[in-house]
Amino acid sequence: MAHGSHAAVEASTRRTFAVISHPDAGKSTLTEALLLHAQVIGEAGATHGKAGRRATVSDWMDMERARGISISSSALQFSHGGALLNLVDTPGHADFSEDTYRVLTAVDCAVMLLDAAKGMETQTMKLFEVCRARRIPIITVVNKWDRPGLEALELLDEIQVRTGMRPTPLTWPVGIAGDFRGVVDRATGDFIRFTRTAGGSTLAAQERLSPEQALAEVGPDWTTAQEEHELLSADDYDHDQDSFLAQDSTPVLFTAAALNFGVGQLLDVLERLAPSPSPRPDTQGRVRELDAPFSAQVFKVQAGMDRAHRDRLAFARVCSGSFERGEVVTHARTRRGFATKYVHSVMGRGRETLDTAHPGDIIGLVNAGDLRAGDTLHTGPAVSFPPIPPFAPEHFRVASPRDPSRCKQFLRGIDQLDQEGVIQVLRSERRPGNAPILAAVGPMQFEVAAHRMESEFSCPVLLENLPYTLALATTAADAPVVELRQGVEVAARSDGVLLALFADEWQVKWVRRDHPEVLLEAIGPGLPPGTAPRQ
Ligand code: GDP
Repeated sequence: MAHGSHAAVEASTRRTFAVISHPDAGKSTLTEALLLHAQVIGEAGATHGKAGRRATVSDWMDMERARGISISSSALQFSHGGALLNLVDTPGHADFSEDTYRVLTAVDCAVMLLDAAKGMETQTMKLFEVCRARRIPIITVVNKWDRPGLEALELLDEIQVRTGMRPTPLTWPVGIAGDFRGVVDRATGDFIRFTRTAGGSTLAAQERLSPEQALAEVGPDWTTAQEEHELLSADDYDHDQDSFLAQDSTPVLFTAAALNFGVGQLLDVLERLAPSPSPRPDTQGRVRELDAPFSAQVFKVQAGMDRAHRDRLAFARVCSGSFERGEVVTHARTRRGFATKYVHSVMGRGRETLDTAHPGDIIGLVNAGDLRAGDTLHTGPAVSFPPIPPFAPEHFRVASPRDPSRCKQFLRGIDQLDQEGVIQVLRSERRPGNAPILAAVGPMQFEVAAHRMESEFSCPVLLENLPYTLALATTAADAPVVELRQGVEVAARSDGVLLALFADEWQVKWVRRDHPEVLLEAIGPGLPPGTAPRQ
């Protein structure tokens, strides 16, 4: 069993992060560019999932490809300088924010990517709220500076007003949006000049010029950038590591990912400033030190990712110790042993076998039959990390098999999707035949569930819409009282939580007025109301 201070040393080199952005801000492009800079791929394009490009890192399912969105999650590991970077992919679509939340439990830092012409968009805000709820430090990247956009100072203002974090630019653009010449390196005052390469598919040339050289060669654009840079310092918009880690400020960088401009700077910032993995508290609040024996928390379970490997894959983040392939670990929830013979780091379509992993690393466990998101795996002394709370669902459908003779497949499929967290499953004795109620945060989850029921379990389903929009936790004793109100139903979620389902806030008010003694409690991972996506 490998552990000891080795793990803490390895952890100090890790930077585990995710990129969060509104669709189209350039997340895929930036991912390619990061990998290109880290020299994982020779030419950008190899990981992109959009039509007409080559194979993709994260788009596994047919449906995803057809829609051009990424539902799955994967992890990429690459080195930069003295650091090993773990980039964990997050789903782009708002309907999968619950998945995103689970993925974000596995990272120590987030890169918030903005389109220079659009600033903070709806999905950027939602994902930002998730990061805030998880207390994840955020690096902000203003992308597409090669295209006309907002003014840099205006963007800073928007970031500050919308997020409440103080933006502290580490680089400052030279040339307005649409005329990207390079950046001021605000730590040294130097000019970093970027030069285009054909199509941006290979590394852009960059050179460092002194302020005097910059003035001589660039002229007025340099002077403007220089003045703004000084103004920012005078107003105290300079980086402060403690306030960044406390989420009170966010370092800002300017990029054109499609041209590879500014991407090297982002890698440097991840290496220098992003936090390395720190010890995690368990359910009892005791800290599992980094060099304690191995422990990891599952944050995502997925099946049907690849038709050639039809199995169930669980993604886990190593929290302590070092992990060797072949070790038998304990599954904390069931107390059973789990043989890790087939462990893979997942990168691109191929599966690479992983031999050792350290805190901050993401491991993909195959044949992960019993594992669920939130589960802990460990060796040595027992440990359980706090479960990942499900979101409060806002959309509800009663499910039944289209072909009643396929009831067994139906129940097996629904159970599988429930365990994977594709949808939540509720049951109410009042439903004829105990038909399951599928509950979701975003309606597209139903499409995924229906698609998978048909393609994997050969069991097309009928989904009947239910008029509820709100779920509050209640107790078994209060359930009959709550259900006295017409149109209110109580159903048990598979994690045992009893949910009272309401059509709207008014119904909640009526029940509270008539029966002030009953328990009706908001559930979910502590997000402010209204941050879960609504149709
Ligand atoms: P995603 O949906 O966030 O993954 O966005 P993509 O990476 O697919 O980018 C969306 C579109 O913006 C694509 O057409 C990209 O080529 C384009 N794009 C991304 N980054 C840049 C950039 O820095 N400059 C310009 N001009 N276009 C960009």
